[in-house]
Formats: sequence, C-alpha cells, structure tokens
Amino acid sequence: MRIVAVNNKNEAVRKNSSSGGIFYLLAEYVISEGGVVFGAGFDENFQVCHSYADNMEGVRAFMQSKYVQSHIGTAYSDAKAFLDEGRLVLFSGTPCQISALKSFLQNDYPNLITADFICHGVPSRRVWREYIDELSAGRKIKSINFRDKTQGWRVFSLKVEFEDSSVYRKNLDEDIFVKGFLQNLYLRPSCYECRHRGFDRPADVTMADFWGVQNVLPELFDDKGTSVLIIRNHVVEKILEGYSEQLIIREISEDTVRKTNSAIEHSCTAHPKREDFFGSEYKSVTKTIRRIVKDPVKIAVKKKLYKLLRG
Ligand SMILES: Cc1cc2nc3c(=O)[nH]c(=O)nc-3n(C[C@H](O)[C@H](O)[C@H](O)COP(=O)(O)OP(=O)(O)OC[C@H]3O[C@@H](n4cnc5c(N)ncnc54)[C@H](O)[C@@H]3O)c2cc1C
Ligand code: SF4
Repeated sequence: MRIVAVNNKNEAVRKNSSSGGIFYLLAEYVISEGGVVFGAGFDENFQVCHSYADNMEGVRAFMQSKYVQSHIGTAYSDAKAFLDEGRLVLFSGTPCQISALKSFLQNDYPNLITADFICHGVPSRRVWREYIDELSAGRKIKSINFRDKTQGWRVFSLKVEFEDSSVYRKNLDEDIFVKGFLQNLYLRPSCYECRHRGFDRPADVTMADFWGVQNVLPELFDDKGTSVLIIRNHVVEKILEGYSEQLIIREISEDTVRKTNSAIEHSCTAHPKREDFFGSEYKSVTKTIRRIVKDPVKIAVKKKLYKLLRG
C-alpha cells in the first residue's frame, strides 16, 4: 500500500473535479486503452445513477461528487459483460458499491480496476428529489455541481444552472440540503454503521480530499483541490507513473490521513432529530430542514458580520 498527496497540474481538470482531479486521469488512461468507465452521473431528472462511458465526453458526466445515493441499476452485470469480453474496466463508486461489485463478480478479473473514496455517507434520494423540486420551482434544470469552486475548494458551493439562464449558488454553510447532509440528518441508515472503513479495502485505489493539506504540505496548497490516494495495486501505480509529468505527488503517512480525514475510520453520528425528520409529515422539505439545521444565534451573527466585513 502506498499513500500519496496529489495535484493534477491541469487546472481545467482540477477546477471541474471535486478534489485533485485524479479520477479523470484514471478514466483517460482506461479510455485510451479502449476500455469502459463506470461512474455516477445525473439522469434526465437530476437523480443520481450509475452508468458507463467509452469516451471522455461520457466520463465528464461522472466527474464531481454527487451527494445523493446513486442508483446502481444494471451496472454490475454490465461491467461483468465487458470484463468477460476482455475489455479493460474502471469501476468507481462508494466503498459499499465496490464491495458489492466484487461479491457479484465472484472471480478476480485482471482487466478490472476499482476506485472508491473515503465516504462520509450518501443522502436519501427522496429528500434530494423533494429539495431539488422546491428549489427549481418549475424552472428546467440545465446543470448541477455540488462542488463548485468559485469560492475555493474548501468553501465549495452547490451550483444549479437553469435553462432560463438563472443560477443558484450557495456555499456549503448556506445551502440547506448540503447543511443537512454535513449534519448527518438524512444519510442512508447503513452509513451510520458503515462496514467499509479503514485502510484495508477491496478497491485498487481509494480517493479522497486532502483536507488540511495547507498545514501538512503547504507547497501543494492553492485552494483548487488536492487529493489523497491510497494505492493498493501495481496497475494503478503504473498508470500514475505514466502521467508523472502531469502530477505533483508527495508521499504521506497513514497517520496523516487518520488525523486529517476521520471518515477513513469512523462513521458519523446521526443527527439527533433524524428520526423526527423522517417521521414528520411536512409540507416543505426546505423549510423543515432549515428549521432543524439552523445556526445558533451566536454563530449566525458571526457569519453575518464576516460577510459584511468581506463586502
Ligand atoms: C457521497 C460522497 C461522499 C464523500 N465523502 C468524502 C469524505 O468524507 N472525505 C473525503 O475525503 N472524500 C469524500 N468523497 C470523495 C471526494 O469528494 C472526491 O470524490 C474524491 O476525492 C475524488 O475526487 P477527484 O477530484 O479525483 O474526482 P472527481 O472528478 O470529483 O470524481 C468523482 C468520482 O466520484 C464518483 N461519484 C460521484 N458521486 C457519487 C455517488 N453519489 N456515488 C458513487 N460514486 C460517486 C464518480 O463516479 C467519480 O468517480 C466523497 C464523495 C462522495 C460522492
Ligand atoms: S458510508 Fe458506507 S454504507 Fe454509506 S455509502 Fe459510504 S460506503 Fe456505503
């Protein structure tokens, strides 16, 4: 196992990725070898689902974290069909999806590369559907980015573009859905007792945000996104070697990951009002979440002051 901090030097790719833009490079390699990439994208209703792509245009739809449970559909059997044909396959997903894929396949395939990530958990698809319906208020959605970097990688925003040219963009501490996600109000029940944590996992590579990189490796920090990679397979090593000109890579320790990213080992605790939230009959999901996750007065005043001072 090798653990590294990585920045993709390609600024455009990094800007359009959640962290350091490494998924894109792995996908590019696989596509260049005539392979197929599986990942999570949006369907026509902006629900999240797994599908596959055999070109980079298709891969772009999988970029950026989507903070909703991805519907797996026929992805496992589709992947098996490509693997049996001898095609190279990159399958990316949550740690539990990679584990389920491996159980489904039963055999080891030398032509399969699996990529998971350090996983906070995935929100309920129902809550997302209700929220996005209310946010749209009848407008047609053009695109959604949960990790817009206009204000930087650390203070990311949810950005929704509508067909009528209107745009919604709110930071992680302002958007109500993201706040509820980060406060663990509506993750799937299994996420609170996740069995897929730790450094030892079935995936060939685990991707993550290198939160705190500014304190550990300040030379890598530019607030545009830095990744942590936990590499367990020589094929992934070789791919990264092939791209070494495009990457800035530094070795880091298990301990650094433990200290900067608690989700590597620990599941989050459910919000104390989770049961009430799911048990209640509400008219507006947005108002209901807002009521539960609203900042205590002291913090709300501090935030307002900070905004005013920043202009
Ligand atoms: C729900 C979720 C929770 C996460 N929690 C953490 C965390 O607690 N700590 C941390 O350090 N990193 C977390 N990550 C991972 C991180 O946000 C980046 O996705 C990862 O570092 C890869 O970044 P990248 O720039 O290389 O690639 P990107 O271009 O951002 O690639 C995104 C990858 O994630 C996959 N993906 C996106 N949404 C989903 C989804 N809903 N279900 C399954 N796969 C999906 C895509 O298929 C693609 O492979 C989480 C990601 C998701 C989706
Ligand atoms: S937290 Fe665990 S159970 Fe929840 S989506 Fe992530 S890997 Fe799966």
